[in-house]
Amino acid sequence: GPAPEAAKPALEWIEAHKGRFGLFIGGKWRDPSTQEWFASINPANAKHLAEVAQGGPDDVNEAVKAARKAFASWSKTPGHVRARYLYAMARQVQKHSRLFAVLETLDNGKPIRETRDIDIPLVARHFYYHAGWAQLMESELSGYEPVGVVGQIIPWNFPLLMLAWKIAPALAMGNTVVLKPAEFTSLTALLFAEICQNIGLPAGVVNIVTGDGRTGAALVEHEGVDKIAFTGSTEIGRIIRRATAGTGKKLSLELGGKSPFIVFDDADLDSAVEGVVDAIWFNQGQVCCAGSRLLVQEGVAEKLYRKLRARMEKLRVGDPLDKAVDIGAIVAPVQLQKIQRLVQKGVEEGAELWQPSWAVPAEGCFYPPTLFTNVAPASTIAQEEIFGPVLAAMTFRTPEEAVRLANNTRYGLAASIWSEDINLALDVATQVKAGTIWINSTNLFDAASGFGGYRESGFGREGGKEGLWEYVKKAERSTANAERKT
Ligand code: NAD
Repeated sequence: GPAPEAAKPALEWIEAHKGRFGLFIGGKWRDPSTQEWFASINPANAKHLAEVAQGGPDDVNEAVKAARKAFASWSKTPGHVRARYLYAMARQVQKHSRLFAVLETLDNGKPIRETRDIDIPLVARHFYYHAGWAQLMESELSGYEPVGVVGQIIPWNFPLLMLAWKIAPALAMGNTVVLKPAEFTSLTALLFAEICQNIGLPAGVVNIVTGDGRTGAALVEHEGVDKIAFTGSTEIGRIIRRATAGTGKKLSLELGGKSPFIVFDDADLDSAVEGVVDAIWFNQGQVCCAGSRLLVQEGVAEKLYRKLRARMEKLRVGDPLDKAVDIGAIVAPVQLQKIQRLVQKGVEEGAELWQPSWAVPAEGCFYPPTLFTNVAPASTIAQEEIFGPVLAAMTFRTPEEAVRLANNTRYGLAASIWSEDINLALDVATQVKAGTIWINSTNLFDAASGFGGYRESGFGREGGKEGLWEYVKKAERSTANAERKT
């Protein structure tokens, strides 16, 4: 296969570090105080990739101290100067895009076509976009100042992109950060730390502390942190909310979802099928806003399912470094087992399971695209986030019923509506409770538009001007006014 050759640049980069990485604190690399490292594994072939440091509370403390020290001057650095660093980050990500894409694919298992064409370009776009806001902060957000030292905790599904969503706005608004990557996928964050060094970013502005949930908890509990920004599961989000309550820490949470994909009987069904493929099989379905509930108007349900099954039969699951592959590996065995458990539950609850006739590769963490029809709205697979390539389909008769089904969830991250009748689509869009609504499209993201949830999907927005408010606070006394008075 294409793998050995394609993997080369990333494996060489790991080799150049002797396969073992430290923590990036105060602009320097250091071994963890725990003297513990854990393995990062390629989920597509179970091969060991690298040893990653388990950051302990002492390391978190050192990182927060470094960020606090850097904050004194970074927060006073003019916006146009901060912008230069963000532009440099964007250009460096572009310059090393191939290395980033391959490294991300090896570490996470997602197809190279996605890391190359979606993840990494969006990362660069995020830094470019926020460089613009850094320059505009003094004029457009006058009377506001940075929050301070921000602790950022991210998941494994879009490792470098989630880093960009977190770091770019924080730095643009004059904050300094301590970021903890997810333990399955630390490597691109460590490569990014090297970029921070290479562009001469002042020491301590960005600190990367790798480790597991304990490292995250130490960051959440640290008294020197002014704000926590978290993306991950609803369960951990709840723990963090409790841990920060009454501490005065600012908090934003981006959590799970069970987003509806609603198809009316006048929809262009062929486009809708392509939309479904993107909604639930992009990134193996490990997407917080995945269209994991298919709601179809009764009259076209069988026809849509028929077209969908034919399309599923043609999807290719396998080596994520192969450019022809549509669906790569699930991030880790524990996630694969979670998917298998929930699919088993779906069968037990009486839903009808359909999978393509071909088998997925026997080695590695692979799972086939899966369609459940006749799903009861109250059943587990209709309510719980599976975070895998599994679609739960239900039918409705009227638009009112579609809205009721769509809102029958504890989440509210996104929704996708398909109809040739724009009045109907817009009317339904106003009634579905979700942070992002796409019409005749899905999974479209841009740095300029805010993203975030309703209800148990969390609060706070990322991206766009809205996202900046998470990283500023009202100045106790606006410097602009103070200067004018003297
Ligand atoms: P997770 O909540 O287990 O882990 C997320 C991060 O939190 C990791 O870095 C982890 O090490 C850390 N963590 C774990 N326990 C912690 C604790 N007690 N205190 C502080 N940090 C802790 O989630 P995951 O399995 O990495 O990611 C999958 C979940 O994330 C899904 O539920 C998905 O919907 C959600 N997600 C949401 C969004 C969004 O934007 N809303 C985006 C991506 C993923």
